[in-house]
Amino acid sequence: MTKLGLSCLTALALLGGCSSAPKYPGDRTEMRTCRWCSGTGVEAADAYDGSPPPGVTPGGPCVGCRGAKNLSVTIPGPKHPAWVKGTVRDGSKVQAIPVEALLLENQRPMQPVLGAVTGAKLHFEGGSRALDTVSNGTGRFKLMLEPGRYKVHISAPGFPDRDEALEVAPRREPIWQERAKLVTPEGAADETVFDVLLGG
Ligand SMILES: [Zn+2]
Repeated sequence: MTKLGLSCLTALALLGGCSSAPKYPGDRTEMRTCRWCSGTGVEAADAYDGSPPPGVTPGGPCVGCRGAKNLSVTIPGPKHPAWVKGTVRDGSKVQAIPVEALLLENQRPMQPVLGAVTGAKLHFEGGSRALDTVSNGTGRFKLMLEPGRYKVHISAPGFPDRDEALEVAPRREPIWQERAKLVTPEGAADETVFDVLLGG
């Protein structure tokens, strides 16, 4: 039996589950030192100023690995879907988006973006696959697409239709089990950003 197999069985015994089956062709799994406790298996005793998040006991077992110290992560292959996020804006209101505005927008995901176009339909077509989404009330959209080249058709009432090309980058960062911690941040480096200006 391989080392990975043993670790997996250990994880199975300790965590009551082993999600090592690759989901997409080219994915593989690897045991890594728990990112949340750095392999100590315990929650830091002094990590929280006020009250700790629900379920976390300072000095108690690490909520990420439940004391196992190691966790199985998925190393994404070239077919593993990646996040594509972006905005649809009215080009007559936004000539260029100032960097400060973008920073502010990222901090306020519930506020409309500059020149937001809501309800715009986006149709992504790549290879044999097609997916649709709609910009939300803040002008944003987010979806997962298999890495590769796409043709994007964008339509919104009051604007001429628009066609764009999009290259969805493959994911690079290992993917940690979602159940492992209360919040699992997505690696921002793994997102493809796609901002659309309509009209003009
Ligand atoms: Zn841990």
